[in-house]
Amino acid sequence: MKKYFCPICGNSLDEEFSIGNICPCCGNESEFHDDISVEYLKRSNKLPIPSGINISDYRDFEILPKKIAWKILRQKWINDGCPWVLNLKNERPTDWNLEMAKAQLLNIKVDITNSDL
Ligand SMILES: [Zn+2]
Repeated sequence: MKKYFCPICGNSLDEEFSIGNICPCCGNESEFHDDISVEYLKRSNKLPIPSGINISDYRDFEILPKKIAWKILRQKWINDGCPWVLNLKNERPTDWNLEMAKAQLLNIKVDITNSDL
């Protein structure tokens, strides 16, 4: 069986993160939360702009490439302390913690194991 991972938080998913799929861990919905316009990003004070991303590279009306949007949503999730957001089908591990979140991020080769958070 093929394994899929949420491109934002690294949680394993039954299906590929595609339109309509919601990751229960970070709570993001594909093609919805990761549809971020440059204008929205500039206006919003809710989304961080991770280092290495220069939004002046994009025009206001542009929708950010998915990889950039995922990076932004991942940074927000990390800034929020890596919470397990949804628990609709009781999929939240009872012992969910930051160390588990850090290990999970390694699924998508994001290493914050040395970060204090
Ligand atoms: Zn996720």
